[in-house]
Amino acid sequence: MTSSRMTRSDLLLPKSGRWHLAAVAFAAICALLVLGCSTTASAGPNSDTVVVQNITDETFDPQGEVQAATPPPAPTAAPAAPAPATGVDLQAIKPNELGTIPILEYHMIVAAEEDQWAITPDHFRQDLQRLYDAGYRPINLNDFLDGRIDIPAGTSPVALTFDDSSPGQFRFLERDGQLVVDPESAVGIMEAFEAAHLDFKARGTFNVLPEAEQPNKLFGQPEYEAEKLRYLVDHGFEIGNHSWWHQRLDIVDDEEVQRQLAFAVKSIQQAVPGYNVRTLALPLGMWPAAQALAIQGAFDGSSYGHDAVLLVGSDPAPSPYSKDYDPYYLERVQSFGDSVERWITYLEQHPDEHYISDGDPSTVTFPKVLESQLNTGALGNQTARAY
Ligand SMILES: [Zn+2]
Repeated sequence: MTSSRMTRSDLLLPKSGRWHLAAVAFAAICALLVLGCSTTASAGPNSDTVVVQNITDETFDPQGEVQAATPPPAPTAAPAAPAPATGVDLQAIKPNELGTIPILEYHMIVAAEEDQWAITPDHFRQDLQRLYDAGYRPINLNDFLDGRIDIPAGTSPVALTFDDSSPGQFRFLERDGQLVVDPESAVGIMEAFEAAHLDFKARGTFNVLPEAEQPNKLFGQPEYEAEKLRYLVDHGFEIGNHSWWHQRLDIVDDEEVQRQLAFAVKSIQQAVPGYNVRTLALPLGMWPAAQALAIQGAFDGSSYGHDAVLLVGSDPAPSPYSKDYDPYYLERVQSFGDSVERWITYLEQHPDEHYISDGDPSTVTFPKVLESQLNTGALGNQTARAY
């Protein structure tokens, strides 16, 4: 270890075992900046009971700690199965499929000045290039949840998420009578990057707000709302729940929690019939009082069932094969300033913490020293291989 080697304490972002006060404050500022200081909810088209929530009126209580949903009990460890023969040179590639996976959390992509909630299109391109050069390959969150991580040997998965459905994430332009994706919006940037780097797929999860005030209502172009949601699904992206209009779920009753989450799903499914919304990004990272309602509930004939809950901040997430993995408590890396660069550098310097693929989705390969971290119950049809 050299003096220049980065440690976790060098990272600006706090390490959090579970929830972190800094992340709460970060999330509070997020709401104010992203949604505007006078954010009020717009009435849903079918809504009789309009809840108007002024986020700035809320005093943030860092002691009002967010607790994790109770993680499922980890199965008893069992020895890894015998290693199957493959053509991969384990010592050269050093796969570690028990390592952590960054889930990046983006907000606004804007040409204007950057802040904690906004980066420029060029900055976003630089992030993609840095990820590519460092051997990352994008995967969708649903594949992560399913333990279906199919990337080449020696590469590492990364998941991109985008909160609040702001226009810079996905904008259509009319050119010569044709509708095209704005090459300066996140979707356009990812698609152009894939065209230039065919082994770096345009993947990501958009945690949308179907009834927020503009410009956050489904990317801010009312005439294209449904078309954009269909486009995302048709082009390999995912749609996640972020509530109907960014309602803080910790300050409303059980009924409103379910209305916010069920109607968000209903709105998404009106555009994309049958779409399975599997993930919830908690608005401001705040849990409802009845935490189970973040995962499952129903309102007025509409229901939802999430397979994962995403937090605001701060570390890379555990491997889905690790005993540390809890799909209802997935941390994310906030993407602003040089945070992506810093995490990439950190993980490069700590390969023992870093997920590196063996290139074979049917095996889960890891250094023998990490064997006790394996959750054998997560293996499904896969074979564990320690080396
Ligand atoms: Zn948000």
